[in-house]
Amino acid sequence: MYWHQIAINVPLERLFTYSHPTVLPAGTLVVVSFRNRRSVGVVWAQVEELDFDAAKVLPVLEVLADVPPLSRHWREMMDFCSRYYLYPLGQAVGAALPQGLRDKEGFVAQETKRWYRFNEAGKTAVKEPSLSHHKKHALWQALHSQCLSLRELKQIHPQAAAQLAQYEAQGYLDVRDTPLKMGFATEFVLNEAQEQAKTAIVATLNQFQAFLLHGITGSGKTEVYFAVMAQVLAQGQQVLMLLPEINLTPQLLSRVQERFYGYETAVLHSQTAAGVRSQDFVRAMKGEVSLVIGTRLSVFTPMPNLGLIVVDEEHDGSFKQQNELRYHARDVALWRAKQASCPIVLGSATPSLESWNNAKTARFQLLSLPMRANSQATLPKVHILDVSRLPLEHGVSEPVKQALLKNWQQGGMSLVYLNRRGFAPVLACTSCGHTFDCPNCSAKLVWHQRQNQLRCHHCDLRQAVPPFCSECHDTDLKPLGQGTQRIEEALQEWLPHARIVRVDRDSTSGKQDWHDLYEKIQADAVDVLVGTQMLAKGHDFARLNLVVILNADGALYSSDFRAPEHLFSQLLQVSGRAGRAETAGRVLLQTQMPEHPVFHALVKQDYAAFANQELALRQAYQFPPFAHMLAVRVDAPQMDMAQNLLEQILENIELPEDVSAFGPVPMLMARLNQRERAQIFLQAPSRQSLHKAGRLFQAALLHAMPHQSQWRFALDVDVQDA
Ligand code: ADP
Ligand code: ZN
Repeated sequence: MYWHQIAINVPLERLFTYSHPTVLPAGTLVVVSFRNRRSVGVVWAQVEELDFDAAKVLPVLEVLADVPPLSRHWREMMDFCSRYYLYPLGQAVGAALPQGLRDKEGFVAQETKRWYRFNEAGKTAVKEPSLSHHKKHALWQALHSQCLSLRELKQIHPQAAAQLAQYEAQGYLDVRDTPLKMGFATEFVLNEAQEQAKTAIVATLNQFQAFLLHGITGSGKTEVYFAVMAQVLAQGQQVLMLLPEINLTPQLLSRVQERFYGYETAVLHSQTAAGVRSQDFVRAMKGEVSLVIGTRLSVFTPMPNLGLIVVDEEHDGSFKQQNELRYHARDVALWRAKQASCPIVLGSATPSLESWNNAKTARFQLLSLPMRANSQATLPKVHILDVSRLPLEHGVSEPVKQALLKNWQQGGMSLVYLNRRGFAPVLACTSCGHTFDCPNCSAKLVWHQRQNQLRCHHCDLRQAVPPFCSECHDTDLKPLGQGTQRIEEALQEWLPHARIVRVDRDSTSGKQDWHDLYEKIQADAVDVLVGTQMLAKGHDFARLNLVVILNADGALYSSDFRAPEHLFSQLLQVSGRAGRAETAGRVLLQTQMPEHPVFHALVKQDYAAFANQELALRQAYQFPPFAHMLAVRVDAPQMDMAQNLLEQILENIELPEDVSAFGPVPMLMARLNQRERAQIFLQAPSRQSLHKAGRLFQAALLHAMPHQSQWRFALDVDVQDA
């Protein structure tokens, strides 16, 4: 018998010993019994000697034969994540493995090592199916013009396998066991700045170097990624590309598929089916997939020949996981690139201040694309409109109203942008001023007019609007604040003949909704768009030439030191929506604080000016990136229980000298789902000290937990929502 230490997905800071008649290599996936339940674990190491009774060691129940052992590199990455994010190794592994591999049902690898296309006989013999048989036609076309794997063909036609079997029997197919690498057809010559960026990156292939590619939307960053990717793929290496979910659009994917046609691509996002995810995971780990594109989770895909990592929109908040293993995909990606000795490119129009600082201190190499790649369009003209003395109607001032009217009369398209925060419509009693709170959370219920419901945006509580005020019984309840729905209605009144469309999570909850809307806009059937963050991203609307920003000020009152950074990034992005085609666009920004430096930088469309100024402030206050930060969070049925526990621990441990502790304080969202939450911020100039402090807290909390099961805790290293 051989003893193995196995990482199991349980909240304990240790590995567990199991026996097996043969030696299992480290990285092997196994099924074991843990507290009488079958669980999947990963072999971490072998043990020579036991410090307890060998008779008590349970056997490994099963070895997952279809999955090769996870590599040393992969295991090192998990060791790093567990250490760095102060999270038990077994649970970190659990968070990184796809569901399908963690399933006790076992995993069976699908055979897809074949690629298909029509041979000459097939091309002449198989007649073009009628276009009304949409999928059949698409399959026929694919077999005609490309050479795809079964997996790819199944995405085109679910019954592709049966059809192929038939064609193969008829002798119509050219079947290959290696893909036909056709790759990289490009219509463009890179411009000078793009060429420089590409050359710099290509010069570092096969060694670690981090690049920050800074350029506004449309400056051609994606083309630079593609050009470098082409080289890496041609060398037979793999590429990992991380994007925020919202940027993983069908448009981008078809751009990738056309460009890298013949290279196996795996796409991974929140909608990817569990089965597909685990198949792709294993395929990537066998080196069968050349290109992995996905959201933060894909950073854990094992890739033995990794040659390049791209992180697009690197500043995006969605790269940080907010529960369980609280990793930052960009930072894990940086670690991974170092380990794999390959370059990593972080791209953004508004880099995070962490990355900007890394570029300033030469840890990253800065590459800039200063202009839009495909048009002469000039930057939008931003006007700051001081509304501190103007009357507002539904949050809109008269000059803005006039501008919208005029633009409509002249046939332009306008975008009315609301910063979502502080804008949710809350129902209030006009007689006593009472508002409705969520019973579970410290949040106001938000009024949803269409469904006539009150909803909590945190715990998703939903209830019908009450017929009268619960305090004074008056029946006159009216919304406060300006939600998108109310603006939409007001606009409809002011511009009765304009075609107005609202875009927010309510109106576009399905993928189809958004697609239909997109088509409608492209077909020129919209005059005014009203919406939130969703509209800031990605898409080009040629006729859009006026952007109105209604409430930017809210974010500047926030206690979060990152609020100005996020605000600037959003405003720059949304103002970039104006005038993407020939005409220069206009941006009107309403504010009560016309002198605020954030707005001045926006007028100049100058990210660097903003970033440098903001970094100076961060340095003065010793905020990240000049110090590192970690939050220790505890929740309990009552706030004082949570705070007392943190208080007690803080008193009893000896923090390293250079670590400052702030709190305990209630979290901004103090009550969530009937639990009350408190936190302490730990801050230090050195990571080592910070982690030391974190580990002290962790140990103390673990020690306290078994005695007080109502408590729950979490540590959030490099916390983003301070
Ligand atoms: P970003 O990723 O910075 O938003 P893209 O790479 O998507 O920019 O490029 C924006 C647009 O410009 C795309 O439509 C792209 O096809 C086009 N484009 C990019 N580079 C060039 C180039 N060198 N010549 C002509 N068009 C280009
Ligand atoms: Zn709630």
